[in-house]
This record gives sequence, structure tokens and C-alpha cells, in this order.
Amino acid sequence: MKPSVAVSPKAVQITGGFWKAKQDTVARQVIPYQWKALNDEIPGAEPSHSVENFRIAAGQKKGEYLGMIFQDSDLGKWIEAAAFSLMRTRDPALEASIDELVEVIGKAQQPDGYLETYFSVKAPEKRWTDFAMGHEMYCGGHLIEGAVAYFEATGKRSFLDIMSRYADHLVATFGRGPGQRIAFDGHPEIELALYKLAAATGRNAYRELARFFVDERGRHPEVLDPTKIIAWPYKPDLWNDKDYYQDHLPVREQRTATGHSVRAMYLYTAMADQYRHDNDQTLLPALEALWENVVQSQMYVTGGLGSQATAERFTLDYDLPSDTSYTETCAAIGLVIWAWRMTLANPDSRYADVLERALYNGSLGGISLDGTRYFYVNPLEVVPSVAEYREDLKHVKTSRVEWFGCACCPPNIARTIASFSQYQYSASSDTVWVHQYAEGRAELPVNGGCVVLQQTTEYPWDGRVNFTLGQVPGGEWSLAVRIPDWCEAVHLAVNGSEVDTASRNKGYVMLHRSWKAGDVVELELEMKVQALRSHSRIRETFGKIAIQRGPLVWCAEEADNGPDLHQFLVTVEGARVEAVENLGPGARRLRLSAVRRLVEPSKTAYSTKRPQDTVTEVVLVPYHLWGNRGKGEMRVWLGTKFG
Ligand SMILES: [Zn+2]
Repeated sequence: MKPSVAVSPKAVQITGGFWKAKQDTVARQVIPYQWKALNDEIPGAEPSHSVENFRIAAGQKKGEYLGMIFQDSDLGKWIEAAAFSLMRTRDPALEASIDELVEVIGKAQQPDGYLETYFSVKAPEKRWTDFAMGHEMYCGGHLIEGAVAYFEATGKRSFLDIMSRYADHLVATFGRGPGQRIAFDGHPEIELALYKLAAATGRNAYRELARFFVDERGRHPEVLDPTKIIAWPYKPDLWNDKDYYQDHLPVREQRTATGHSVRAMYLYTAMADQYRHDNDQTLLPALEALWENVVQSQMYVTGGLGSQATAERFTLDYDLPSDTSYTETCAAIGLVIWAWRMTLANPDSRYADVLERALYNGSLGGISLDGTRYFYVNPLEVVPSVAEYREDLKHVKTSRVEWFGCACCPPNIARTIASFSQYQYSASSDTVWVHQYAEGRAELPVNGGCVVLQQTTEYPWDGRVNFTLGQVPGGEWSLAVRIPDWCEAVHLAVNGSEVDTASRNKGYVMLHRSWKAGDVVELELEMKVQALRSHSRIRETFGKIAIQRGPLVWCAEEADNGPDLHQFLVTVEGARVEAVENLGPGARRLRLSAVRRLVEPSKTAYSTKRPQDTVTEVVLVPYHLWGNRGKGEMRVWLGTKFG
């Protein structure tokens, strides 16, 4: 399969439906709210200190550095979110705030290009000493991503120039040449950012440096030296060993996803960038093996990753507990960005299917409907009284919160929503690929020209998608339409004539023809309410079912069903889809037949009595919408009478 190229988010406008509502919320609520949070102006929320640290580093304020060592990264992600939003609609007031902030960032930059406020303000003598947990290049990477997006949105160069000077400093400092250092960051991120910076500036040295960081990982045990960790007490243990950083083997020899799940996703994304941009085939066996390992045996049904809170990490294949899981919002987002690079390198619907699962469930679950409350940890089962008591559940928040002292997730989900349209399409010379469905208008390059494509749909609530072609380039070319893995029955018609969908090219129906303006493609993806069963080695969910309809995974909440959700045994037979008022525009809920099983009236823990079943119903809402109606129980995996 030929690789395809990304399309600028500027060329794809979301004009209605699910994603317009989300992007409007980001523009109107989330970006202003998060700006306040980063300026420590949210009463009662944990302060960020992020902007303050930059002002101190710039010499504009007196004070000491406060907050996590990687606080700069939150600002980079917020600017990126704002930039993607500005690609939809310019906003002079927002740009003025960012321009002023960019000036501060410029003043915080050291004369040699170095930029990181913790080390500039608090520990200048420790610069480039703690590669394991110092997060210096991790912060730089997020600032680069912000700078590239802001340049694309506005054409303003000053932030891009600041971050190019920073990258030049890295190019001078790190490498295999005389006087250079062999090192890499314990938290990957700089690598994928350098690929973006190389594309934005045309400077190949940035790409070469990214390759150097990826290639040297796992070859130099002295680089990520835990005795040099400065922001935490050094505590050697099993969970923070080399595999925590994916530094236990050279990347080409890695076959099993290990360690901190966000670090893993960002590293695999960089490996995919290298494979894609440089056609480095030597990375493919590792990428394919890691992909299969993650999605087959270490991924939650929500696309969440990381089944252990300690070290926020992967554990063992099929070890996927529902309640103690970590499943950080950033890890699901990391899976989205890795899946996207894999999609571009080799259009195959198995990547876009996982992207969709991780996006609509594990990622979107991290933000409230109004955009101002967040989850960092996204378990599949929460009982508030238990989660608030148990030591091994203390990482679980039972209600969404205003902000976190460690706030990597909120600006990460903001930039993900704001940039959703980048995941919809890609293009190769004679093919336009449709990967994700959302109402909007796109201008896409194909056959040496440009096609204007309009999607009309209520996706993900409804599986009907209409495409209308406006301007069309001459000659024959293909419209590649992804058929999602959850879809059992599909109808596809061009100008009213049914098309055979049985023949697919890696999950895509290829509509190859000479197109003309006004052509209409009608796609109908049957959205059945489906029962998913887990692999028989997953102990906690074996014998239960999770409900899926379309790309959404659903859950039961106390708000609809009362407490003790584990007592319900459900079936998808006769399931009904209903509109629901208070969960956003167009939202649906499901109503399932069920019995409530009780072993009573005995008060003792165990009984030989037969259980009593009462016929009832259970209402389910999309997993990503849970926790928007007050504190209460939530459960994805439900009991069923028939296993
Ligand atoms: Zn996070």
C-alpha cells in the first residue's frame, strides 16, 4: 500500500454535529478557562505556576520556580490547542495574549538557545544532567509543537524562531560528533516535535537529531541515570527500571510495550515518524509487534492504556483490571497520535479503528461536557465510597476536578479536540482516504488538483454519512472509504447506485472512477447495539459484557440506575436507542433489558440460597460522558445472564 500524506487541519472545516459542538466548547470555554488555570486564577483549583515561572525566568517578576518540573509543557500544549482553534476562526484578543506570552518565552530563553524554566530559575547548574526525569526536552518538544501550530495558524514566525534557536542548541549539543553528547530524554516527545519542526522550517538537521535520539535509546545505560534524578527522591525499584523509559533494549529489538504508557506512545509515534518520513524499513518489525501487543493484549476496551497506577505503566498481557487501572487521558491520546502515524504510513483500517476507539472513549472521557472539569485517570469501574477509601485506589478521582498540580491531561485533550480534523483524511497521488466521519467541508489534493468534499452526518450517534463532491479534478481517482471494524452491515451508493462493499483494500472500499462535480456518495454504517466479550485470559471481565454501539463504548451510571450497578445482568436483545436531553446536542442513550439479581434476605456475606431476579431495565450513556451529572457509581463491564 502506498503511504499517504496528512492534510492541513486548515483545509478541513468541521461545520456541524458532534465535533463542531466539541470544538466550539474548546474555543469558547476551554481555552479561556485553561488560560486562567495556567495563570493561577481559578479559585480553589491547584495552581499551575506555569505562566508565572516563565515570567520569573524572563526577569519580569521576582520569585521562585513552583510546580512540577515539567510545568512548561502545559503552556506548550495550551498554545497548540489555541493555535488549532485559531485555524478555524482567528481571534485577535486570543492572539494578543499569545503574542505577549511568546515575548515572555523569548526573554526566558538563554543566550545559547536553552529554554526550560525549572533549570533556568531553580537549578542552572543541573542543566542537561538529569535525562531520566528532568523532562527538559519533553518540555521543549511541547513548546515546539505549539510554535509550529501557531505559525501554521497565523503565519507569525517569532515563536517558531525561538523554538528553532532552541532546536539549534540541541543540534549543537547532542550527537555523535566531536564535543557532542550522546543522550536522549527519559520522556520521549522531542523526537516527534523535531519531525514537525523540520517540516515547518525545511531544516533537515532537526529530523536527523530526532533519528539520533530514537536510534541511541536502549544502547547507553548511563544516560538515564536514576542517581541523577533531581526532582524526586531516587528510589530504585522494579517499576522504575530501564523498561519504564523504554530504554531496556534498542528500539528495533523491542516487541512488547513496557513501562510508562505515555512515554511509550510518544516513542512509538517518533519511531513511526522515522519509518514514514525516512522510509526506515528496519523499524517496521518493532512497530508492528508493538502495535499488535498493545491493541491485542494491553489495551482497554475504551482505548485506555496503563493498567497500574504505580509508575503509570503497562504491566502484563491481559492484566486489565477495571477499577485500579491508571488509563491516563494522555495515554489514550498518545495511542491516537501513534495510530495516526501508522495510518499515514500504511493506510489500513486497523489503525484508524483503534484511533477512533481511543479518541471517542479513552481520550474524550478526560474532559467534562462544559470543558472545565477533568479526569486524569479513567478507570472502567468506579464506586465512589470505595475509591475514596482504599489505598490502592487513591489515584482515582470520583468527580472531575478543576485542575491538577500535575496537569498534563487537560491541555492535551484540548489540543486533541481542537485538531480533530487532522485525523479525518489523508491523500496520496490518486486516492483520497476518508478515515473518520464528521460533518464538514474539506479541500483535498488528488490527481494534481483539488477535490472539495462535503460530509453530512450525525456520527457518532448515527451511521449515515453523505458525501457531496464540489470541485473535482479531472481523470480517474479513488475515494477510499473506511468501513469500521464494529460495522457488520454496510450500504454504499454512488449517485443512487449500490456499490459492492465486500471487496475492500485493508478495510477501505475503493471507489475508483472519473468523478464529476455534484456526485453524491451515500454511506450507511449499521450501528447495532453490540455485546463485547473479553479474552478469556482477562480475569476481571471474563463472563461480563461491555456494550458498544458505533465507535462508542457505553457505561451504566448511578444517575440513571441507582447504586450497586454490579447487580444488573443485561442483554442487548431488544436494546433501544433514545434521545437524551442533558448530555449535549444530539446525544443518545441506550435502554437495555436486564434483571437485578439479589441474594437476600440474609445479611451474611455468603448464602446457599438461590438468587432472586427482578426484571428491570438499565440505561447506558457513552463512557466519555460519565461523571457529568454529579458523583456516583459507573461501570463499563456488566453482568449478563448468558455469559
Ligand atoms: Zn496526562
